[in-house]
Amino acid sequence: MQCSFKDISKLINKSNHIIITGHLQPDGDCLGSMLALYLYLQDIGKKVQVVLDDEIPLSFRFLPSIQEIIRPSQTLCSQADLIIVLDASDIERIGNLSTQTSCPILNIDHHKSNTNFAEFTYLDLSAAATGEIICDLFDYLHYDPTQAIANCLYTAIATDCGFFRYANTTSATLRKAAFLVDFGAQPNLISESLQMRAPEYIAILTGVLQTLEFFHNQQIAAITVDLTKNPLLDSEGFIDYPRYIEGIRVAIMFKIVDENTIRVSMRSTDIDVSQIALSFGGGGHLRAAGCTLTDNYLNAKDKILAAIENMLRDD
Ligand code: 5GP
Ligand code: MN
Repeated sequence: MQCSFKDISKLINKSNHIIITGHLQPDGDCLGSMLALYLYLQDIGKKVQVVLDDEIPLSFRFLPSIQEIIRPSQTLCSQADLIIVLDASDIERIGNLSTQTSCPILNIDHHKSNTNFAEFTYLDLSAAATGEIICDLFDYLHYDPTQAIANCLYTAIATDCGFFRYANTTSATLRKAAFLVDFGAQPNLISESLQMRAPEYIAILTGVLQTLEFFHNQQIAAITVDLTKNPLLDSEGFIDYPRYIEGIRVAIMFKIVDENTIRVSMRSTDIDVSQIALSFGGGGHLRAAGCTLTDNYLNAKDKILAAIENMLRDD
């Protein structure tokens, strides 16, 4: 059921033990939104746990209360009255937690590919980030963010719109960012924390750039990252290299997780890559989407390229 902020407020009011979760391979929007809602629910006296079934990238360790995020094995889902799933468009995206619970799920999201999997869904496709929706919710609830919450929400919003550069940036996005700065958000600290790289990052990047390939009349550019050689590799930002090449309509990053698992990230200037990701069991937005293929690298690459070329041809 699609619900309103009024419904969300009622759901929260009648729940005592609330679990907040987000998607695997968490990004700034997922983590920032989870922590902002967590701090709010704590503030209003709820018993609340913030849970994630994946590792948290080290670059986010500056986020307030990030150390309070626990793994599904550390929580008792059976005792919860409500699970709030943030920034995830399908149930598989939250990992193991989904199999541990029968209590109602409230999903707050902004993905075009949302599958309407929850009992209660608040979906706003015009929001650049789930963090924008949380901001709107706090506004509805007349709740002024603390500095910690402002930093979490600013991180959520800024990371999902490429620090106010992507097409999803609206005047509302910018207004919310300004509002959060008024409440203590620190844009310089946030961007510096997220841009800081380990020295090895640059060494690895030079190798990854050698994998750059062009397809379909130089309209598709792809890079490949081999995680079997560097399992802990931070590949944040790598996709910007193929993305910002003149004439490129679709940029792809293939990540070889293991011999038969290939993670794919896609960015586009004008075609709907969420449709392509969905057709491979993934999802995302019009211009940014991803999926994971259970196949070897060469097969996975052929399949993704064929799907993109098909869409570019139809265009
Ligand atoms: P990225 O390429 O940065 O991993 O993801 C781009 C966008 O697509 C993000 O909004 C992300 O949430 C979404 N996305 C990436 N991979 C998947 C996936 O496997 N399933 C779904 N549903 N969404 C994905
Ligand atoms: Mn998001």
